[in-house]
Order: sequence, then C-alpha cells, then structure tokens
Amino acid sequence: MGSCFGAFVVRTYTKTYRMYIDGEWVSGSAHFDDTNPATEESLARFPSGSGEDVNRAVDAAEEAFKGWSEMPPPRRGRILQRTADMLRRDKERLGILVATEMGKVMPEALGDVQEAIDIFEYFAGEGRRLLGNTTTSELRDKFAMTVRRPVGVMGLITPWNFPFAIPAWKLSAALICGNTIVFKPSSDTPLCAYELVRILGSAGVPEGVINFVTGSATVVGQGIVRHQRVEGISFTGSKSTGDWITRNAGLKKVGLELGGKNPVIVMDDADLNLAVEGIIWGAFGTTGQRCTATSRVIAGKKIRKKLVDMLLARTKKLRLGPGVLKTTDVGPLINKEALEKSEKYVAIGREEGARLLCGGERPKGKGYFYKPTIFDEVRRGMRIAREEIFGPVLSVLESEGIDDAIDIANSVEYGLSSSIYTRDINNAFRAIEGIEAGLTYVNASTIGSEVHLPFGGVKATGHTREAGIAGIDEFSHLKTVYVDYSGRLQKAQIDVE
Ligand code: NAP
Repeated sequence: MGSCFGAFVVRTYTKTYRMYIDGEWVSGSAHFDDTNPATEESLARFPSGSGEDVNRAVDAAEEAFKGWSEMPPPRRGRILQRTADMLRRDKERLGILVATEMGKVMPEALGDVQEAIDIFEYFAGEGRRLLGNTTTSELRDKFAMTVRRPVGVMGLITPWNFPFAIPAWKLSAALICGNTIVFKPSSDTPLCAYELVRILGSAGVPEGVINFVTGSATVVGQGIVRHQRVEGISFTGSKSTGDWITRNAGLKKVGLELGGKNPVIVMDDADLNLAVEGIIWGAFGTTGQRCTATSRVIAGKKIRKKLVDMLLARTKKLRLGPGVLKTTDVGPLINKEALEKSEKYVAIGREEGARLLCGGERPKGKGYFYKPTIFDEVRRGMRIAREEIFGPVLSVLESEGIDDAIDIANSVEYGLSSSIYTRDINNAFRAIEGIEAGLTYVNASTIGSEVHLPFGGVKATGHTREAGIAGIDEFSHLKTVYVDYSGRLQKAQIDVE
C-alpha cells in the first residue's frame, strides 16, 4: 500500500455499535456488517433496528418536542455552533473515516466533513433570524404577520454518498427550526452517522431530541415513513424510493432530493482545457456517485472529436485505489450492487451501439472498483443517455448549436444540475433560462454547491430545496397571525369601505 493520510494503515473496526434512543445507547438483537468498499472487509457491526425501536424513537422524539421547540432558537443555535466546532476539531479523523467507510478520496472526504461544518455554522446563525413577514391588513386596527413553527417529529432518511454532509444538512435545519428527530442513515455508512450523532449529543442536544435508528430500509425506513405520529419526512436518495415514499407517507410533509442525469454543454467557442478539467472532476470525482455528477457531455459538432481526445488522455491517467491513499484519483464504488449496475449499463451502452472509448471493466483484485469509462457517439434516446447510472460512466453526445444542446439537456426525466462552457454571454444566458434544472453552472462543473445557496431540483429529481434560507421551508411551516386591536368584530371581504 502507498503512503496514507493520517494514522490510517489497514485499520479494522471490529466493534459492534449501538443505536441512540431517548438519550441512551441501545443494543439490537440482530446486526448487519458495515463494509469497507475498497477491501470488502467488515469495518463495524450495527443493530438491525426493529419496529419496536422505531416506536420507542418516535415516543422519545414526541416527549422531547415541547422542551426543544420552546427553547429560544438562538440557544439552539449555540448547540449547532458547538457541533461545528467539534467537527472542525476532529476533521482529519472524520475525513479518514469517510474515505474508509464510503470510499471517496481524502480531499473529497475532508470536503464532506467541511460541508457539515459549514452547514452547522450557517444554521447556527439562522437561530437569530427564522424570519417570517409582517404585512398590511385590509382592515383598520389589525396587524398581520407570519411566524415560523416547527413541523414536529421528523423522520430523516439519508443515502451514503455524502455520509456527513447530507445528514448534517438535514439535522442542522431540522434542529434550528425546533423539530425532534428520528434519523435513519444508509446501511452503507452508519459509522459516519454514528459519529455525527455522538458529536451532537456531546455538543448539548438534549435527550430524546435526536434518535438514531440503524437497520433495513424495509423495517426501519418504511416504519418511519408510515408511522402515524411522524409529521414530516426528509429524504435524499433514489427516485424509486422517493416514489415509494410519496405513495406511503400519507399526509406528512415530505421533502425529496432524488437522482440526476446532469449534462455539461460544451459549445464550439468554449475553453476546452477548462471544460476538460470540469468534466473529469464532475464525471469521475466521487467515482461518479454524486447526485450532481456529470453523466452527459453535450459537445458542439466542431469540437466534439478534439474534446473526446482530450478527455480520453486525461481519463487514462486516473489512478484507481482506496480513498485513503494519497496516490488515488478514483476510489471504489460503494458496494457490489453499484458495481454490477455500472457493468450492466456498460453492456447496455454497447448493445445500443455507443462507442466505448475506455474503461468498461473492473480491475483485478479485491474491492468494488470500476475503471473510469467513456462512451462516444451516444444518442439522446439511448438508455445510457437517459438513466442514472451512479458510477464512473460518461456519455458524450453531439449537438448542433445552443437550442439543440438545451433540447438534449432537457430530454431526460431528471433536473438536478447542469453546466455550460462557452465564451459567448448569449449562449450562457440561454442555458440559464432554458435548461430544466435546479442548478446551472457557467464555465464550471456540475458539482460544487455552497451551503448558503439553495440546493435541489425539478422534474423527477423532486422539488425540495435544502441549504440556504430556502432550506428552512422543508423543516418548518409558516403560521399566519392576525392581531385585531379594534375592539369590535371586523369582517374581511365584507366590511368593504
Ligand atoms: P436509496 O436506495 O433510495 O436509499 C437511500 C436511503 O433510503 C437509505 O437510508 C435506505 O436504507 C433508505 N430506503 C430505501 N428504501 C426505502 C423505503 N422504501 N422507505 C424508507 N427508506 C428507504 O438511495 P441510495 O442508493 O442510498 O443513494 C443514491 C441515490 O441518491 C441516487 O439516486 C442519487 O442521485 C440520490 N441522491 C440525491 C441527492 C440530492 O440531493 N438530490 C443527493 C445524494 C444522493 P438502506 O441503506 O438501509 O437501504
């Protein structure tokens, strides 16, 4: 093994961990293995939570709601600030954990933790705002305003690809708004989630406010979604799970952050060196496992061949390996199913007649590795151009000008991120206006959100926004308040002067 970050060599976590319910660490009667995707070895064992564990977690969250929601928001904010400080103090250790458990390379793993720090700091400040509006009334001696109220007990269900940042986005916003929580992490990254919950407890989150229940999608995940006394669900994950939640959550307030099939448009006038850097970063960073990963390049007719040659030359230099090694550019996929999914789509791409330029196979040896793969001569109707692969597989399509490029960009069911490389301001603004997506980057890759701006999509990606001021809408509702100080019965719409 090459040189490593920090103290990591081949560290084996053999410990069996516990869930956190009503301020106590509780064991399970059955357990599952948490696996290192680079070695396929078990890192840790976590409880397979039961329906009874979900019930106890909801009871505890319900019990804690009054105290937590009545705590002045700036005091809740101080706890979030302490959480950010503790995460910063432990950043390197936690980054190594992300790289080990999830597989992303160390600079990105540290970025994952940094994003959690940023969002806790951001929402700590929100404790002194949580703004509503004041407005006019159509009647005399009457005052009208909106105030923010928490949703209640909320179920937070998260994926594995940002094992610190995504739980942190949800936890920070839910907590500052005064909600209490039942949190189910991905079964692929429970250890990062455990660390985050432990730190929140040490930072002063009272007992019962956060309840951490590990276990399967069917027992724990579905149990939370269907639970009668859970008022809200915040979910990030696949479209198929989002569909299931929509059908089964009943009248709960539901937030959904789902998949993407994110395009980079490269116009004939683009700076190709800049575009290549952005595409390689977007397509193969996090091994293509970001919801905002670049999975389609829509290249101008005049530059497509040159661009493809440049992409190929850069891709061939990428080195596969465990995320914790300094020499690694591309880490493993998260698990066997993800590896098989990339393999399946490469076979589909070949059958559909796309031209495989590189990759298209797994390397020899242990770990869920897959070689960075590029298909050229992809057409918009092909499945590899439409469906989310969530692996290191990039499709290159050709376009005939800006309108055609936007049309291709919009020819998928998803609408999360998008990008255009051009030197022409007119093309840039047409893309900003025309692409159906929650995010559009100009002369930058499809990835790289900042926490003070809203994040989310349109179409089958879901319509929720997280982060930024808009991020609190998912975790609060606006109560409308009228104060009538006229001392008599006044009737809106009827007492018309
Ligand atoms: P997933 O299979 O949908 O799982 C996500 C989480 O939901 C996991 O905790 C999973 O539990 C749980 N779950 C699965 N089925 C459930 C059900 N019926 N009811 C309740 N919970 C259920 O997604 P994933 O493979 O972890 O994540 C990859 C997907 O997430 C991709 O599609 C990606 O685009 C999307 N994503 C979107 C965003 C965004 O912000 N738009 C960000 C990141 C990722 P188990 O782990 O126990 O199965």
